[in-house]
Amino acid sequence: MTPAAAPEEDKAGARRERARERSRLWRAANPEKAREATRRYRAANLEAERERERESARQRRAANPEANRVAAREGMRRHREANPGAAGRWREANREAERERGRLYREANPGANREAQRRWYEAHPEAKRGANLQRRARLAGVPHEPWTLVAILERDNWTCQLADCLCPDGRSIDPSAGHLTRWEGTADHIIPISKCGPDTPENLQAAHRACNSAKGDR
Ligand SMILES: [Zn+2]
Repeated sequence: MTPAAAPEEDKAGARRERARERSRLWRAANPEKAREATRRYRAANLEAERERERESARQRRAANPEANRVAAREGMRRHREANPGAAGRWREANREAERERGRLYREANPGANREAQRRWYEAHPEAKRGANLQRRARLAGVPHEPWTLVAILERDNWTCQLADCLCPDGRSIDPSAGHLTRWEGTADHIIPISKCGPDTPENLQAAHRACNSAKGDR
């Protein structure tokens, strides 16, 4: 501060002080008008006031992102504790919106979607087989009914139904045979889907994997 500026600042400060005093006196003498003036001022400046609050909140968050994340997690935790089941109810009530949100996300993140699908199918091998067969059946224009491999094997007494079974130990299927090994149990389409056989339990039979592969599309 230069010494020459000091008297000017003193004068400005004195003017502001006198204006505040006049305002205080006027408000004391006119309380109704004063309240009305305050109300009008706030209404006119509401959006600006909110924006100032938002901006200062943004600055606080930017200055300390980790504290903000901790506070957000803590807030969510308290909310979940105070409202058990709220998240499920919210999703239930917003099912359509959630579906749309998922669709937009997948559209915007095709890579993430494929990766998530791959992980899900890895964890649900039965579902993948079902989805593949349903798709093949739809493409071939043949009927499809949901079925499970275990139900087919149980129904056929864990016995390979192919007349020219290749297994040296006989037609019995070992439930403990490893996944994708030659003698594990599989379900064979009696009439292949490619030859318009339906993808339904009636058109399925238990078979060793190797026997099923050897049969191929016959
Ligand atoms: Zn066999």
